[in-house]
Amino acid sequence: MSNLISVFGKKVAIVTAHPDDESFVFAGLARGLVVEGAVVDLYCMTMGEQGRAYIEITEQGLKELRSSELEAAVQIIGMNLVYLGSFPDGSLYKKKQELSEKLRSLLIGYQSIIGFGSEGFTGHSDHVTMNEVAKVLADEMEIPYYCACLPHGENHDIIKSALLRKRHCDFYEDCEELDLPEITIKIDSEIKLKALKAHTSQFSGLDPYGLFDRSTADDFLNFEYYCKNANK
Ligand SMILES: [Zn+2]
Repeated sequence: MSNLISVFGKKVAIVTAHPDDESFVFAGLARGLVVEGAVVDLYCMTMGEQGRAYIEITEQGLKELRSSELEAAVQIIGMNLVYLGSFPDGSLYKKKQELSEKLRSLLIGYQSIIGFGSEGFTGHSDHVTMNEVAKVLADEMEIPYYCACLPHGENHDIIKSALLRKRHCDFYEDCEELDLPEITIKIDSEIKLKALKAHTSQFSGLDPYGLFDRSTADDFLNFEYYCKNANK
């Protein structure tokens, strides 16, 4: 696809749960839109305090560290960090109403919202909650909601089983896969890897070459897949 703006619009909001989601899931599309001249604004609802810390650090320390890693990553991608919330990492499902009210007050003037699909990409319950909240808001605003999907084909099962192995806590739901990719985007692999590496404290869990075999990792860094997720 050569013209992303014609599909997604020239002012878009990406709505995520954790610092690193923007890099692991959306960096390629975000970068592509920025290069075409679009405004790409990021709304990240938690500071990721439940993330795995590979160093001795307090919860507050991890919040601060992950916030600064996020700022570095968005600079690499070229998107704007418009809102970084302090909703509770790992239990967003308890805060749907507040999340919805907060985002309703913030998301103004966008041509589309981009976020997680019904299965939350990795199955993380916070991602699933963000899908539920954001697609209802997009409907209210009468703009499209686009969600990130896993690829079709043989890489699908490889990526999916690697993401299942990555789970290290109780935050995951076993969702059926509801979203099939309709849009394949060739992305800037160097920018995606650089953005991932900006999340130093999380990188050992994000490194495509650690998660997947080499050819799947190359694919992960070269393509992203999306579909229009209608509210059923
Ligand atoms: Zn996440």
